[in-house]
Amino acid sequence: MPTVIQKFGGTSLVNREAVVRCARRIATRHEHGDRVVVVVSAMGETTDRLVEQGRMMNPDGNRREFDLLMAAGEQVSAALMALALESLGVGATALTGAQAGFMTDEVHGRARIKDIRTSRLASELDADRVPVVMGFQGVTNEGELTTFGRGGSDTTAVALAAALNVAAEGGYCEINTDVAGIHTADPRLIAEARRLDQISYEEMLELALHGARVMDPRALVFGEKYSVPILVRHSTRPGAGTLITSMEEDMERPSVVGCALKEDIGRIALSVPAGESGAQAAIFEATARAGIVVDDIIQTEHDGRVHVAFTVEHADLAVVRTAISESLDDLGGGHTDPEVEIGLAKVSAVGTGMKTHTGIASRMFGALADRSIPIRNITTSEIKISCLVPQEHGVRALEAVHQCFDLGMPATENAREG
Ligand code: ADP
Ligand code: ASP
Ligand code: MG
Repeated sequence: MPTVIQKFGGTSLVNREAVVRCARRIATRHEHGDRVVVVVSAMGETTDRLVEQGRMMNPDGNRREFDLLMAAGEQVSAALMALALESLGVGATALTGAQAGFMTDEVHGRARIKDIRTSRLASELDADRVPVVMGFQGVTNEGELTTFGRGGSDTTAVALAAALNVAAEGGYCEINTDVAGIHTADPRLIAEARRLDQISYEEMLELALHGARVMDPRALVFGEKYSVPILVRHSTRPGAGTLITSMEEDMERPSVVGCALKEDIGRIALSVPAGESGAQAAIFEATARAGIVVDDIIQTEHDGRVHVAFTVEHADLAVVRTAISESLDDLGGGHTDPEVEIGLAKVSAVGTGMKTHTGIASRMFGALADRSIPIRNITTSEIKISCLVPQEHGVRALEAVHQCFDLGMPATENAREG
């Protein structure tokens, strides 16, 4: 009997009626004979509201207390979902992350899963009950509640699928959301965006890292590592959805499968005397210590100075600026004050087919040039090209990229294009 993980995101649980609609889906699957484990996020915008309330109380408050505050959102939705299932005649048990066995490290707000102890889940399943697990939270060995970071319920779901080894008996992890699957671009920004039948973990990870918020990047890392089939679909409308899986290397693949836009990017620039060693290490050790992800790094040298610039999310700018100033001061001065620029966006094209196709970059740059969109920086990987552009051109840049790779066309035509 296969075990299916059914995750419902906050956008699918906006009110009581929506919870009941999703509960019916779960009940149908349960009646069909599958073993079902449910994972829920907080309802609608609940997490945003809780964070806002915490910040109003104390903007510099402990991350520990913020974790307790945010986790309350999932506690409400899981309890309501279990009650809804019971009212439909399905035995259900709401479980906190801790009760579901999620053991994490001690990093509040960005905790990493160290182990999942599945004995409680297994006994619920053996008793033919549906466990309803609170997403994006776990517990440390010392009993402290932790959260995984925003959007982390996808990771709860995929990690559970891996821990329960659901794929071994034909099970999978279903991510139910408010769109029909993974599209060639965010369908809310690009009307022509097309649903994909399949996408590889690698491609979806790049899209997620570059702004496609439909999946949490960490869930894809788990998915790939443990070969968990992930099906992304609409929470209530029937439809095939998108299967995220590993793909045959030799399968004919279009050069570009999708594109994404990441907004609210800031840039920090400073210079140090040329020939002084250790500046780069000091800068990036400081950002790493602050737990901040740095994106593009650009280094040039002229007039006897080394100029270093890099991008981070707007929300991280203040912390980064202070951290690197302190760390460079320790090095002995000689550096300029870090200058901050805001209002940048990054448009990215992704596809494993890039490994074997040429001319992809020039096509993308040409499309941006045709619309007079200035490119502030370019970064590439084997399967991705990104251009940093002024934010006011962000959506137009995404449209340009979507169009130039014919992503709105049926997949076969797009594949032939190369
Ligand atoms: P949930 O509450 O289910 O976790 P999210 O808001 O986190 O939902 O993710 C779903 C949203 O992701 C969609 O409403 C859509 O606007 C956005 N999105 C961004 N890029 C894509 C894409 N390539 N395909 C589908 N949806 C995307
Ligand atoms: N409720 C959490 C958030 O809004 C986790 C999630 O939705 O995945 O970030
Ligand atoms: Mg989400």
